[in-house]
Amino acid sequence: MPELPEVETTLRGISPHIKNQIVTQVIIRQAKLRWPIPVDLPQLIEQKILHSLSRRAKYLLLHFDTGTLLIHLGMSGSLRVIADNTPPARHDHIDISFANNKSIRLTDPRRFGAVLWLGSNPEAHPLLSKLGPEPLGTDLSAKYLYQQSRGKKVSIKQFLMNQNVVTGIGNIYCTETLYYAGINPVRAAGNISLKRYQNLVNKIQQTLNLAIEQGGTTLRDFVGSDGKPGYFKQELSAYGRSSLPCKQCQKTLSEIKQANRTTVYCSHCQT
Ligand SMILES: [Zn+2]
Repeated sequence: MPELPEVETTLRGISPHIKNQIVTQVIIRQAKLRWPIPVDLPQLIEQKILHSLSRRAKYLLLHFDTGTLLIHLGMSGSLRVIADNTPPARHDHIDISFANNKSIRLTDPRRFGAVLWLGSNPEAHPLLSKLGPEPLGTDLSAKYLYQQSRGKKVSIKQFLMNQNVVTGIGNIYCTETLYYAGINPVRAAGNISLKRYQNLVNKIQQTLNLAIEQGGTTLRDFVGSDGKPGYFKQELSAYGRSSLPCKQCQKTLSEIKQANRTTVYCSHCQT
């Protein structure tokens, strides 16, 4: 599943090709994604200039003078820049073509992705209005997490994965950052000190930034036409390593379920 680093890398990968370009054509081959693609999308954005692109949580936002288009990659989606005449394959659901003869193409075998028109006040849309701060940049602070968590008995894992607390931390990076911060994933969020939250925020940012940096080396996957999504195959220390030795203490890593999601952790290093 694409997580925040893949979405950020996609944004950086596609932006230089389509920013400030005029949309010439929208081709919808399959409108039934998680929600239907609006039927009037061609009329809404054709002949309009895409003046900027941004990311909020795992949503890509394409800004036009008349409003904002949201693209979400869902479980299996990828967005690539292709030359105008590239023939579509089976799961290529929508193309948006630009005056410079480039197109962006959404490929999504499982169709949990989304392409939605948000109009002129995107932040007010229900998908965006309740989102917590972004994990990168200066929005997220240890003090904020500390204050939000006081009195909370929910586990730190579930607390961090709540998109209303902080956005864009999915299962992989939540598992990894708790490992690096040495925090047991079942510990109550309200039972973690400000100092430990400071360390956790540092680890969240280091881990995500490193993944984005590594993603930069696979950028061509997003602009090529080989049909493969460019999800990162980076080295992970906890996620996916159940029953393998901890890289710090060599003890066997444990696997548990939390809210139906797999957590892998070291019961020795994470307290
Ligand atoms: Zn360990």
